[in-house]
Amino acid sequence: MKIVVLAKQVPEADKVAVDPETGTLIREGVTSILNPYCEYALDQAAKLKVDYPELEIEVIAISMGPPQAKMALLRCLELGADKGYLLSDRKFAGSDVWATSTAIKEGVANLVPEFDLILAGKQAIDGDTAQVPAEIAEQLGVPQITYGVDVKINNKRVEVKREVETGYQILSARMPALVTMSKGNNIRRIPSMRAVLDARKKPLEVFSADDLNIDEEKIGLSASPTQVDKIFAPPSKTGGEIVDGSDPKVAARKLFEYLKVNGFLRM
Ligand SMILES: Cc1cc2nc3c(=O)[nH]c(=O)nc-3n(C[C@H](O)[C@H](O)[C@H](O)COP(=O)(O)OP(=O)(O)OC[C@H]3O[C@@H](n4cnc5c(N)ncnc54)[C@H](O)[C@@H]3O)c2cc1C
Repeated sequence: MKIVVLAKQVPEADKVAVDPETGTLIREGVTSILNPYCEYALDQAAKLKVDYPELEIEVIAISMGPPQAKMALLRCLELGADKGYLLSDRKFAGSDVWATSTAIKEGVANLVPEFDLILAGKQAIDGDTAQVPAEIAEQLGVPQITYGVDVKINNKRVEVKREVETGYQILSARMPALVTMSKGNNIRRIPSMRAVLDARKKPLEVFSADDLNIDEEKIGLSASPTQVDKIFAPPSKTGGEIVDGSDPKVAARKLFEYLKVNGFLRM
């Protein structure tokens, strides 16, 4: 059985700032990491390998990104993936979610055409759209289940415990299928020294758009139906006024006065 894990490299979210002059992200000096939700997807894939030894599961991590995204794939190999494939080409630059989905879909279809299951993160912590996996599933014509927290394999079907606002759903789909992973019981692990060393011996290959025979008109900026006009950080709010609540009567009076003086009450 073949499981593809979609792995995106992202900047460490809390270290990214927006340049107020240009409206672009300041990436200099910011560490890149494997998107945490992709780590949960990989942790789930590693668990499936242990839970179903009879299925002889092979885990293939695929990323689309610049050459340095190899580091995200290396982390996948350290965490249990068997192979890493990086889709990297200047022709992919400027891709929006649709063009990104197209490129990744072509990568999966060309490199792992016999895949059984694709596990992706529920969202990337930088772009945050949560659209890429859904668009890949549509383009591949396979069923998709989102917000998974636990995955089981039952014959030719994948069973997913899915997080919803009021609790959980149990859904199943025939394979091949795509599932996006939330945290659940999955964890971000620290790989052992042996796993770190072994990862360096595993296959990690890079493919260009030409290697995958991707039509140039389907990728990159010109194939992107959406455009980012502006990125900006909302103006920071002032600290506000905190009313001491140790004496509820005094606090209530103070709040009442505040609302009255500032015109929030119609008397
Ligand atoms: C007009 C436009 C131009 C853009 N230009 C650029 C650009 O030049 N450079 C740039 O870096 N970004 C660019 N972006 C952003 C880029 O399109 C998104 O980062 C990308 O489509 C992924 O979307 P997301 O981050 O919202 O992922 P989500 O949909 O939130 O990701 C969910 C999951 O999908 C999978 N996934 C998503 N992206 C990848 C990936 N690349 N490889 C493997 N798995 C993935 C992962 O499993 C991830 O956890 C551009 C966006 C727009 C709209």
